Amino acid sequence: NNAPSATVSSPRLQEFLSTPQRLFIDGQWVESSSGRTFNTYDPATGNKLAEVAQGVEADIDAAIAAARAVFNEGSWVSMRPNTREELLFAISQKIQEWADDFAELEALDNGKPLGIAAAFDVRSAADCFRYYAGWPSKIQGSVNNPSMILAPVEAEFHSYTRREPVGVCAQIIPWNFPLLMAAWKIAPALATGNTVVLKPAEQTPLTALLLGKVLKEVGVPPGVVNIVTGYGDIGAALSSHADVDKVAFTGSTEVGKKIVESVKGNLKKVSLELGGKSPNIVFADADIPSAVAGALQGFTLNSGQACEAGTRVYVHEDIYDQFNAQLVEAVKQLNIGPGTDPTSDITPLVSEEQLDRVVGYLNQGKTDGAQAIVGGNRWGDTGYYVEPTVFTNTTPNMSIVQEEIFGPVAISIPFSSEDEVITAANDSEYGLAAALWTKDLSRAHRVASRLQAGSVWVNTYHALDSQLPFGGYHQSGWGRELGPESIELYTQVKSVTIAL
Ligand code: NAD
Repeated sequence: NNAPSATVSSPRLQEFLSTPQRLFIDGQWVESSSGRTFNTYDPATGNKLAEVAQGVEADIDAAIAAARAVFNEGSWVSMRPNTREELLFAISQKIQEWADDFAELEALDNGKPLGIAAAFDVRSAADCFRYYAGWPSKIQGSVNNPSMILAPVEAEFHSYTRREPVGVCAQIIPWNFPLLMAAWKIAPALATGNTVVLKPAEQTPLTALLLGKVLKEVGVPPGVVNIVTGYGDIGAALSSHADVDKVAFTGSTEVGKKIVESVKGNLKKVSLELGGKSPNIVFADADIPSAVAGALQGFTLNSGQACEAGTRVYVHEDIYDQFNAQLVEAVKQLNIGPGTDPTSDITPLVSEEQLDRVVGYLNQGKTDGAQAIVGGNRWGDTGYYVEPTVFTNTTPNMSIVQEEIFGPVAISIPFSSEDEVITAANDSEYGLAAALWTKDLSRAHRVASRLQAGSVWVNTYHALDSQLPFGGYHQSGWGRELGPESIELYTQVKSVTIAL
């Protein structure tokens, strides 16, 4: 259905959705040089939400040229740290000022619950800019007194290191947390003096474009951040471009591997945040109601469309039946409905393609002999909904056990010993996150140290914060984002040596 469908509450959003959205290049809103546009859809209805410019390679070239020009010109790179901090802080404040608009737009474009969009996506995005607003004045080098053997003239030496920006950064992001992923990428890049070309996901470009309006309004200089909307072809053009110094990508492991191939031409720096199939381990001594609530949130937050989702739930055999019964009860309490209805817990998946993908896994699981103890099917016949689902009776080689489903689908697996469950939990090509539930302090630390995952949570799930590095072991990615680690990702170190 191509008729715009959404009725929105604020004049700003009404205006935003009623005008075709354009590309943000060199501080200007411009049409695609091809004149092409594409539609985004409301996942709750399948109706058209907005029309957006479809960037092509020439637009990527123009965006990179703008980012390069402002980087080379020098005033952005050498901006006083305090001024840079004020700018990042102003972005954070403006996101908070426009928080209701951002939340509603995210709920409409992605389909997620309005409450989650407001309390998590938008708040965390504002937090991320505020966190990195604190960094510019704290970025330091070191001072050294080396003794150089091959120096041309005998001398004493004084050396120091400088942290400098990497340059023009290509940032390619997915559709599951559209505004937040833009914040995780843009905030540390700006804190460290880089320039950016951002490519939002084609399913959910709208909040990144609204963020572009924030950047313009608070006075981020033209060309420092450029936003080019479109499909994977321009993501590929961006990551392979000879004038890009770094690519930061979040999305599927499959595309992550293509990114690695595409950077070979100029060996640009790469950071990757990819898929996951995270284990969530419930020991027999756990507080069962908390573990049930944590397991539920682990696999249903954002309708399971979270890379860190806890989709392999390992439960000690002594409490297995009791735990499953309580989890099924909790799943049955969830309301399914559109993201804009505040009572909805499970909202539609982002697209028809994603619906087909998840339903394909549900059917494959049943064909392979797994038992859906709750859910197991598409929900309704309008919008892209699936029932929250828990499978039992699985075997380790089933696709529902091995592969990232990206829907509200968990498997519950019994275990008998700590060693056995650690081996099972680590038996994955991924290693993004893991959690364990226990009251035994020694076990908590012991198991946390043995789990091969970039984030480990004890008696909680989805605990993400701008201060905490996030990223994956194994095929879940390269590098860590957030915390001081992102400052390292977006800087390179130079050592300067002076013969005294
Ligand atoms: P994707 O990896 O295909 O897309 C992510 C981004 O990469 C989008 O902006 C897309 O346009 C761009 N892209 C696509 N092809 C590209 C290429 N060749 N070069 C450069 N950029 C390219 O992810 P998707 O199709 O949106 O989702 C597919 C699966 O990926 C999901 O079902 C899920 O399993 C996984 N996923 C993981 C995350 C995560 O945060 N780890 C997020 C979204 C999706």
